[in-house]
Amino acid sequence: MKGDRVCVSCRRVGPRESFWRVVRLPDGSIVIDSGMGRSAYVCRCLECLTLAQKKQRLGRSLRAQISPDLFAELHRRLSIAPPEGLGPLQATLEGGQELGNSLRLGQDGIG
Ligand SMILES: [Zn+2]
Repeated sequence: MKGDRVCVSCRRVGPRESFWRVVRLPDGSIVIDSGMGRSAYVCRCLECLTLAQKKQRLGRSLRAQISPDLFAELHRRLSIAPPEGLGPLQATLEGGQELGNSLRLGQDGIG
């Protein structure tokens, strides 16, 4: 199991590629997936990301303040690349389907 990493939120062990790597650079700035420094790992899922933020798991692990911007960036990545096994998160349909639904609102009460 050499080289495996542990999620700061759920303690799940896995290969490095399955986590986001959050790094504290020597100058104190926090970056994602790049640079050399103290590293912490978190699963690429909403649950662990939320836990890492709420319980300040990342901040504690890195002994640093994690700015909300960094979590915002991770959330953005989450919506771009959903983890395997969850299926497609977005089902964007081009066309007038939403229009049709909204037009029907309010008509049920008549009669
Ligand atoms: Zn996790």
